[in-house]
Amino acid sequence: MSKVMIVDDAQFMRVRLSKLLTRNGYEVVEAENGEQAVKVFKSASPDVVLMDITMPHKDGLEALSEIREFDSKAKVIMLTALGQESMIVQAVQAGAKDYVVKPFNPKRVMSALEKVLG
Ligand SMILES: [Mg+2]
Repeated sequence: MSKVMIVDDAQFMRVRLSKLLTRNGYEVVEAENGEQAVKVFKSASPDVVLMDITMPHKDGLEALSEIREFDSKAKVIMLTALGQESMIVQAVQAGAKDYVVKPFNPKRVMSALEKVLG
């Protein structure tokens, strides 16, 4: 069973993603900001990370860089809002494997996870 870390400061988003992923057989751990994401990544060693960009206490781009410094093979998919194209470019340059635009399409989330987990 693959373990996914969901990182988003919006609780409803974590709940929706968590339901989708557990229903599809994934194990889930959560973090609600970038700072927590780095800590949980180190302790839970998720196979893949789904991470929001805009968050308090360290945004998704900073957390992405720290996670990739800790583990250069870390697989991170960014969750973005419309209009965040420049941040997506930065995230991909910083090592993000893919991105999913919110409000997310469940099928798109599942296919991004399957692709990244290979
Ligand atoms: Mg947010």
